[in-house]
Amino acid sequence: MKIMKFGGTSVGSAERMGAVSQLLPTQEPVIVVLSAMSGTTNHLVQIGQQLAQGNVAQAESLTNQLEQHYKQVVTDLYKQEASKDKGNQVVQTVFADIRACFERTFSPASEKIILAQGELLSTQLFQIFQHENGIPSVLLPALEFMKITPDEEPDQVFIRENLRKQLEKYPDAQLFITQGYICRNAKNEIDNLKRGGSDYTASIVGAAVKASEIQIWTDIDGMHNNDPRIVKNTYPIAELSFDEAAELAYFGAKILHPSSILPAQQHNIPVRLLNTMQPEAQGTTISSKRTGNKIKAVAAKDGIIAIKIKSSRMLLAYGFLRSVFEVFERFKTPIDMITTSEVAVSLTIDNGTYLPEITEALQRFGTVEIDSDLTIVCVVGDFMEDRPGAALKVVQSLRHIPLRMISYGGSKNNISFLVNTSYKEDALISINEGVFQEKEETNA
Ligand code: ASP
Ligand code: MG
Repeated sequence: MKIMKFGGTSVGSAERMGAVSQLLPTQEPVIVVLSAMSGTTNHLVQIGQQLAQGNVAQAESLTNQLEQHYKQVVTDLYKQEASKDKGNQVVQTVFADIRACFERTFSPASEKIILAQGELLSTQLFQIFQHENGIPSVLLPALEFMKITPDEEPDQVFIRENLRKQLEKYPDAQLFITQGYICRNAKNEIDNLKRGGSDYTASIVGAAVKASEIQIWTDIDGMHNNDPRIVKNTYPIAELSFDEAAELAYFGAKILHPSSILPAQQHNIPVRLLNTMQPEAQGTTISSKRTGNKIKAVAAKDGIIAIKIKSSRMLLAYGFLRSVFEVFERFKTPIDMITTSEVAVSLTIDNGTYLPEITEALQRFGTVEIDSDLTIVCVVGDFMEDRPGAALKVVQSLRHIPLRMISYGGSKNNISFLVNTSYKEDALISINEGVFQEKEETNA
């Protein structure tokens, strides 16, 4: 069994859906995981925001716009009247469900019902499209098996068992279609895996069925070695290890949802990033294979806040860091980078929701300094500690840039720098010149 996940642009039009159909295998069962058609989730988010502010008329007008759009999709997508009728039926039901939320008092639960409609639309419309083209398929309702725990982690046992029950009903089926992103929470309400979560669905489903491969189809030809919006001549990286890919996805490569590496890694299932616009391109394969002594890529993550806690109490004391970390735990705020000296510790967060509370709590330990508008520049590759000088080229290429923090040695495949966001472009370009100019060179 293979998993193939298609993103919003890959199913964004009648033409694109046709292209997706061409890519589906005929000899092997496959679970196709779909995102909402491009732009839809953003539009649904806006509807939710208007409702949250009590602007029902605005929400209605946005809903009407989206409904018009989907009626056009149905007209463009299908040739046969019977398919158009079925498509319009789907559109009608979905939009009735959205409008039903206008009548209730607005709550996060009704917002999540609204957000779920994009994937419910794309999967049903895609199935009708397959049917019109004579390809039998089974729609697996994600809300019957995708579930998260009270900690918002996938409930692996529930998912495995319930997905199996669904699949067992159709022993001869070859093509299964399911919704990415949507799930039920511990209260059994409709919920989601956060923005971009369809990739995560694909890898959770892949792990649950022990798939042979998880393919993530987007409109780029794999993970690039640098940010193509900033740097010229970037190229897709053919092979990455799970750890390298996780660092890159987390630190800014937008192509893959960062959480989606772990389920695949736990079951050692290769993840391939492929391009629907260029299906013959090799893309990026992420697997457990070690891929040589190379610096692979650089990515950058903006919106970082640095917190420095200076305290003479830290000198020769133990238990100090634990007290500091407890503050972040209490406010459910993950720490990204950390460096320490004997009398101070600096760390970074990217979620400032509880910054005032965190700052206040940390002031018990010493002086607290906060800096914002920072960027983490993360260089990923093989920095085995027994390879002298592996990091030198990277550091040298940044010699003209003020570095606020450096993190090296946390893992063997990452070196991260904290810089002012105003230096980000310069940093990415300089690392490109210093490290990646020669694509084929073993840059060590
Ligand atoms: N449709 C959702 C989003 O736009 C999930 C996804 O596409 O992965 O975030
Ligand atoms: Mg995505």
